[in-house]
Amino acid sequence: MTRLELHCDEALLPGGFARSVAIRVEDGTIVAVAPDADPAPGVRRLPGLTLPGLPNLHSHLFQRGMAGLSERRGASEDSFWTWREVMYRFLDRLDPDDVAAIAAQAMVEMLEGGFTALAEFHYLHHDRDGRPYADIAEMAGAVAAAAAETGIGLTLLPVLYRYGNFGGAPAVHGQRRFLNNRDAYLRLVEGAERAVAALPDAHVGIAPHSLRAVALDDLPWLAGLRPQAPVHIHVAEQTREVEDALAIAGRRPVALLMDTVAVDSRWCLIHATHLDDGEREAMARSGAVAGLCPITEANLGDGIFDGVRYREAGGRIGVGSDSNVEIGAGGELRLLEYSQRLRDRRRALWAQEGVSAGTRLWRDACAGGAQACGRAIGAIALGHRADLVTLAAAHPALVAKGGDLALDSALFAAPALPVAQVHVGGEQLVTDGRHRARERVEARYAAVMRRLLA
Ligand code: ZN
Repeated sequence: MTRLELHCDEALLPGGFARSVAIRVEDGTIVAVAPDADPAPGVRRLPGLTLPGLPNLHSHLFQRGMAGLSERRGASEDSFWTWREVMYRFLDRLDPDDVAAIAAQAMVEMLEGGFTALAEFHYLHHDRDGRPYADIAEMAGAVAAAAAETGIGLTLLPVLYRYGNFGGAPAVHGQRRFLNNRDAYLRLVEGAERAVAALPDAHVGIAPHSLRAVALDDLPWLAGLRPQAPVHIHVAEQTREVEDALAIAGRRPVALLMDTVAVDSRWCLIHATHLDDGEREAMARSGAVAGLCPITEANLGDGIFDGVRYREAGGRIGVGSDSNVEIGAGGELRLLEYSQRLRDRRRALWAQEGVSAGTRLWRDACAGGAQACGRAIGAIALGHRADLVTLAAAHPALVAKGGDLALDSALFAAPALPVAQVHVGGEQLVTDGRHRARERVEARYAAVMRRLLA
């Protein structure tokens, strides 16, 4: 058994901010938390404010490599759908080693940006000609290898992708590397479970890509495959998707999903941007998590999720970096809050009586992210993984501040979350803002990108 003692100047605990907090960790799990403790001799000191690490509940790691490649206008109006064409062309060239290199780079940036766990929505499965690799889960293995190298906590979500659009429309050429039938998907899930078996506390979940990409009767089948595992799906990201669902199925996407399968707290509905009042109320009541990706949703021009009304209805949220065009826990939460302010022309919308906007955003996204990852993370509390993000106490934005002022300033008054130390499962991965494998990972990433973009 590995044991570790940490001592935080200040920490965000489930009951609020506490000073002089001793944390004992055994085999990566928190076994004791004591506020107002004297630092024991030889204990590892964490100066400033320590937060529970934020889970990143939605990502497509390989897309980190195409960040910045789709900011030009084509002949037609640029949209999510033209971005998707750029994505298909980029991934045409990737092999498993490329994916591992890009994934490791993205994970290093996530860890340095305050994300300690990742739910990877993994849909790039097959070889360039669309045929499965000898091991159908080879690409899942590349993601698992990157997680092993970087130390991020992993929930791997192998994706079922069968069709090109609603109503079983055939997939297009650019989608050939994603496609599986039910039998192949079952083998893929089993392969993913083998791929992550050696990682500490890694989980595998289930992911229908979207209502566009599976048959409706796949949904209850998928939900039953692993009855305890999280289930994630993209839904209602684009207005065209709403129009297609109405035209073909006669219902809006989230209503259609909830009429087709029992959506409960295992589910994470990614984006869910376009909801009517009834859908929003039903989704909030279901206990599902809304998986919001504010930076990507802004980059793709998706729209603004109504977080204010959803929270008032008791809805749960978490955040994800999705396309990984920019990676950082602070940036996602800041844009989530700012998008609400811009729409409603009011301030501090996530705040409530006695709890600042930054503190409530962090807490909500930790709780929702943990639920969506299906792991005991997102809190500095007994039985949870020791995933800790310690802010840089000496950063100019944080000087002379503690508690919610420090957290608010880290989110709203610094260009990126000022991270000093990051522990995952008690292991220190980031020191003075830099991941321990950054140099090697970055060099390999640079070599891959030079070749891909040559
Ligand atoms: Zn996505």
